[in-house]
Amino acid sequence: MGLREQFTGWKPRLWAGWRPNGLGEQKPNHYRDIARVAWANRAHPAYAYQVLTKGACDGCALGVAGLHDWTIDGVHLCTTRLDLLELNTADAIDPLVLSDVAALASRTGAQLRALGRLAHPMRRRRGATGFRRVSWDEALSVLAAGLRGSTPDRVALYLTSRGITNETYYVAAKAGRALGIANIDSAARVCHAPSTVGLRQTVGVAATTCSFQDVIEAPLVVLWGSNPANNQPVFMKYLYLARRRGCRVVVVNPFLEPGLARYWVPSNVESALFGTKMCDLHVPVRPGGDVALANAALQRLIARGAVDRAFVDAHTEGFADVAAALAGQDTDHLLDLAGVDRPTLESFVDELARAGGAVHVWSMGVTQHRGAAETVRGIVNLALAQGGVGRNGVGLMPIRGHSGVQGGAEMGAYATALPGGLPVDPDNAAALAATWGFPVPGRPGLTATEMVEAAGRGEVDVLWMSGGNFIDVMPDSRAVEAALGRVPLRVHQDVVVTRQMLVDGDDVVLLPVATRYEQEGGGTETTTERRIVFSPEIPRQVGEARSEWRLFADVANRVRPELRAAFSWPDNAALRREIAEVVPLYAGIETLAATGDAVQWGGRHLAAGGEFPTPSGRGRFTPLEPVEPQVPDGSFVLSTRRGKQFNSMVHGLVDPLTGAGRDAVFMDATDASALGVAPGDRVRLRSETGSLEATVTVARLPARTLQVHWPEANVLIAGGPDRREPASKVPDYNAVVTVERLHAAPPD
Ligand code: SF4
Repeated sequence: MGLREQFTGWKPRLWAGWRPNGLGEQKPNHYRDIARVAWANRAHPAYAYQVLTKGACDGCALGVAGLHDWTIDGVHLCTTRLDLLELNTADAIDPLVLSDVAALASRTGAQLRALGRLAHPMRRRRGATGFRRVSWDEALSVLAAGLRGSTPDRVALYLTSRGITNETYYVAAKAGRALGIANIDSAARVCHAPSTVGLRQTVGVAATTCSFQDVIEAPLVVLWGSNPANNQPVFMKYLYLARRRGCRVVVVNPFLEPGLARYWVPSNVESALFGTKMCDLHVPVRPGGDVALANAALQRLIARGAVDRAFVDAHTEGFADVAAALAGQDTDHLLDLAGVDRPTLESFVDELARAGGAVHVWSMGVTQHRGAAETVRGIVNLALAQGGVGRNGVGLMPIRGHSGVQGGAEMGAYATALPGGLPVDPDNAAALAATWGFPVPGRPGLTATEMVEAAGRGEVDVLWMSGGNFIDVMPDSRAVEAALGRVPLRVHQDVVVTRQMLVDGDDVVLLPVATRYEQEGGGTETTTERRIVFSPEIPRQVGEARSEWRLFADVANRVRPELRAAFSWPDNAALRREIAEVVPLYAGIETLAATGDAVQWGGRHLAAGGEFPTPSGRGRFTPLEPVEPQVPDGSFVLSTRRGKQFNSMVHGLVDPLTGAGRDAVFMDATDASALGVAPGDRVRLRSETGSLEATVTVARLPARTLQVHWPEANVLIAGGPDRREPASKVPDYNAVVTVERLHAAPPD
């Protein structure tokens, strides 16, 4: 939107208030943040400028090349990207800093990142006080010997999406399978794996069905367990533009996040000055109550005759079964399970019925639960009932928080998928083996959580990780640390030092790698709207860091030199040509070569016109039975929340959107009063797994529910097979806890 256009047609009814830039309000100060980041990057301003103006953002998966995206005019930039910029301009660590691990052990992840870039291969044997610098040859020889000396079922390879490109994921997936390793997994496992399962079974695709343009054109956006104000900030600009066109917004979440109630879009004059009301209706669903809510809403849509019968009849199956199942469910009981009152339900159904379809957006508040795949099916039921797939202004959007997770799974760096997202089975493996020229394991491998559990049982000889930090990310941090310590050889390749690298082991090797911007030949990522986006190489050499796609190929060549031809690309343009051949979905990736180049697989809409890529060609309804919560008297359901952070990387000790510190426990006033605690009091939270001290912050929440920042809350979260979503194996990042008052807040 141009400046002139910005000053015309203002909409005072959407203004959050009259104070310019929300003066005095609890909100981020974007302009101050920009100044802070400029200062933090003062050592390499020219490089920082190039990353911002040429690179594809390595933050969330909204996707932007340089300062522009494919949805809006004007600048696309947020503070998450600016915070990540420091990683891309950091200088090398002095290797001597790593020679004393005990001196580093008490540092936080942020303090370790502040040390700078990992710049040289390092190695630490059991009993040594720290790491010593080694040659690349020694480091890779150790890894190759470890792989040769083990069996593939005792090797685990994990990649996180820390800016990792599709090219790297593809080579890692290919190299791992060339070595017979089925245990390959990536960060998608701990976020949207249930969306993959739920969507594939119902609409035949494991991706967002619409595009960001549909958000702007939507009559209604429903945000389920999602806080884009924090996690995908520029999405708020899309919402602002949508609201100017009349879009209504419903927030389904236990807590009405302040950034979703009102937001100041810094690059828009009207919104920057007066803020924008972003939410028309808050539905304060209880954690785990989404299926009950979706069922109740669908019941009411049916009762009101607000179902798109023509679409349902022509393009779906299973509606009669769902209608019959819902007829047997008592609405009051559903509302009780959802924790929502009847007027709120009716208002929600009013919004759905009036709009005649919506863009349904969901995120970790939905997926990191034991019943996550069921919830996704519940959302799909609502969408299908309104013909809400495959046309403008509607769709299903599992919004991604990492720029690499969609591509990671689609490149086959996933325990349950081969390249193209194909299920791992003997037929698909045989077809891929014929293409690649070597046998491919035809069974699914260990998922991320299973890798950690296998390590704890002493069943993993080599744990090879690109990025990631299992200690911070996986449930039950103490058990994870113990499990990592049992692995005879751990290899961590990364751009910075992380806490998991410091865990003792027989042999621990650190490999310094290039960022996505430094990567030889550039690389691509896949955004939430399935857009494959090119990011060019922005040359910079930090120490001996190497491009990861070359690194994975080198290791494959060392262990299986007879396969050299399969791992010898002259450049990564050749690699992209191979990806286009092996993954037809990615056709066009081979044409990408400059900033702004992109190709969207599937086009604007999947299932366009109601043609679903399911075996029957129809979208599938699923009858769902809500689960009764099991919360003992005197206990609370604790959910995890995000503050000023990018995934597990904490960027600020206070969340500018809420004003809460990292140690806050969000609690409803009625619960605080019943417990005899007040804001600022210290309490101890106890679960079956551990305990955590926290400071009471009063917020409007459903009764007997609490929220604590993640990853700090991981000490309270139990792991294990019965604590994850059964099909996708995403951990359930919720816990039942008790609260004990420790001491009152000090007087002001
Ligand atoms: S919204 Fe996401 S993609 Fe856009 S600049 Fe911010 S972190 Fe990057």
